[in-house]
Amino acid sequence: MEVEALYSGEYYWNMILGSVFTVLAWLVAVTITHPMLAIAKAINYIRRGNRQVNIETNKDNRSQSLSQLVSALIQQEKNLKASNAQLQLELTSKLMAQEMLRQSEEKFRQLAENIQEVFWIRDFRTHEILYISPAYEQVWQRNCESLYSNPNSWLDAIHPEDRERALSIMKENIYSAYQNEYRIIQPDGTICWICDSSFPVKNHHGQVYRRVGIAQDITERKQAEETRLALAKEREISQLKSQFIAIASHEFRTPLTTILLSCDFLQNYGDQLPEEKKQRHFDKIKSSVKHLNQILEDVLVFGKTEAGKLNFEPAPIDLISFCLDLVEQLQLNAGEKYKIDFVEQCVYGCAREELPVMDEKLLRHIFTNLLSNAIKYSPQGGRIKFELICDGTSAIFKIQDEGIGIPEEEVDKLFTSFFRCSNTGHLPGTGLGLAIVKNAVELHKGQIAVESQLGVGTTFTVILPRG
Ligand code: ATP
Ligand code: MG
Repeated sequence: MEVEALYSGEYYWNMILGSVFTVLAWLVAVTITHPMLAIAKAINYIRRGNRQVNIETNKDNRSQSLSQLVSALIQQEKNLKASNAQLQLELTSKLMAQEMLRQSEEKFRQLAENIQEVFWIRDFRTHEILYISPAYEQVWQRNCESLYSNPNSWLDAIHPEDRERALSIMKENIYSAYQNEYRIIQPDGTICWICDSSFPVKNHHGQVYRRVGIAQDITERKQAEETRLALAKEREISQLKSQFIAIASHEFRTPLTTILLSCDFLQNYGDQLPEEKKQRHFDKIKSSVKHLNQILEDVLVFGKTEAGKLNFEPAPIDLISFCLDLVEQLQLNAGEKYKIDFVEQCVYGCAREELPVMDEKLLRHIFTNLLSNAIKYSPQGGRIKFELICDGTSAIFKIQDEGIGIPEEEVDKLFTSFFRCSNTGHLPGTGLGLAIVKNAVELHKGQIAVESQLGVGTTFTVILPRG
């Protein structure tokens, strides 16, 4: 019984101890596994896409670190997603830009390869051809490859007479746009007119790094232009002929009538006429013949001018002596009604040291015409001033009269052949003098100007380089 009692007391102790240990073991297990389970649970949540997770662990350091690690990972994932989205965006816009570029390249290629004009792109520094459109083969009749391998081969085709001009236009406009017209010779000898327009292309620093251009075959246009010009010239010549016939017949009639009348008079009454009257008729005949001769001379010179055959033969000339001779001669013909004054201001030698170099024959045409006009268009008589001013570079001549003047609206047409002003009345003339003057001045590379006031007078100024 005692043994039994002891036995049963031990039994209960064992039971109690066992239970206590079990509880303790459970507590220890729970303490250790709880955070692990919490982490496992949180990982499961995260795996399922739930990012709002709170890891319920003990507040010890290890658990907190774990929790912070998870938060950092979540943040990193967020950052990665954001930059991924950004990359996606950039990729899409890059792809779109590439597509737009491809489309515009396609459009450019379609345009460049289907137009009849030759389109080209050249490297500014190396002159290398970066692009040449297929029309080059049509227009130049040479293949594009030959141009890629020898970028200057297109120049070989330029007509020898146009090459120097074309090259100098290119050289003068290295940094600017230009338009060049020249002829090319195709391999079979056909000549084509080209209009080449070229433009500089600048980089974002504003430096020229390429040139682009369009070369157009303008042969047909040129031919049409030439035909039009030839027709216009023909029309002009025929008009000049008619004008000339009209004016010459009119201008010839007066002196011829004078000659005829004086001859008749001398023939019929010569024996009875006093010597003095006879002489007057002879003088009339002589001056009419002179006049006819002058008209013929003008016509011949004008003919040469029109044909571009008026020669320019410059030689050293004493301008003061030349002007004095001319004035003396014209004063003699003009009579006492007129007073021709010659004034000279030669700062730089016109007579002695370094003589100017000019064509005396042409100078005679210029100043005989201008002085004769000054006399003719001053019917009341008066003073005519002939001035010569010479400096180191040019000679300036001024012819000033006090005559009828020139209507302002007619000044522009003054140098046109056969033109006569509306106020000339009965004063004779063919309208050729000033056309000849202008041509002779141009042959000297000089200039002519006119100032005039109706009823007051006219001043012609001629400036000629000393040569
Ligand atoms: P010609 O061929 O005989 O010289 P023209 O004198 O009529 O004939 P231009 O010398 O060419 O011909 O002159 C053209 C026109 O200009 C003249 O008809 C005249 O109307 C006008 N003109 C020229 N010089 C003067 C001047 N000094 N004063 C007024 N009008 C002038
Ligand atoms: Mg005249």
